[in-house]
Amino acid sequence: MSKKTVKDYIRTIVDFPHEGILFRDVTTLFADPRGFRMAVDQMLHPYAGLQIDKVVGLEARGFILGGAIAHQLSVGFVPVRKKGKLPGRTISQEYTLEYGEAIVELHEDAIQPGEKILLVDDLLATGGTAEAGIKLIERLGGEIISCSFVIDLPDLGGRKRLEAMGMEVLSLCEFE
Ligand code: 5GP
Repeated sequence: MSKKTVKDYIRTIVDFPHEGILFRDVTTLFADPRGFRMAVDQMLHPYAGLQIDKVVGLEARGFILGGAIAHQLSVGFVPVRKKGKLPGRTISQEYTLEYGEAIVELHEDAIQPGEKILLVDDLLATGGTAEAGIKLIERLGGEIISCSFVIDLPDLGGRKRLEAMGMEVLSLCEFE
């Protein structure tokens, strides 16, 4: 039997959160000790020998991956959170969802100008969430070294959108 890949640990839930949506569920990947380690190790691998000062994770699954990656790199972890969750002074960024708008926030003292940042989330779809995170980091003067995802949904255009902003985009697997 061939060895399981990261993609093999991801479960697909039909009609979640709405009818017609195939939700790629990474809780099954995170719950498996081999799967979780494989995902974190593969996400880390490209940055061996590169300077990274902080890992920024996007709420909420980006916290789980980003925390593990930051720990391995022995660097700090910074959360980008939905509006109203961070206790200190924040900067905000609006972005467009499928229906309506949302706001994400970052503590204004979480990143120092010139710090080299690795941005992490579980899944890249349209790229709207990641773009909002990138804008927040850049407004504080952070330099984004790379954007790393477990899953890319190439049909939704997020990779092209982030690459058009000059970002390096890496992912471990793709789904149609
Ligand atoms: P985007 O802003 O790129 O359109 O959507 C990506 C964001 O939505 C990510 O923060 C991701 O966690 C979440 N997301 C959208 N669809 C899925 C999905 O099928 N599975 C998972 N795990 N997250 C999703």
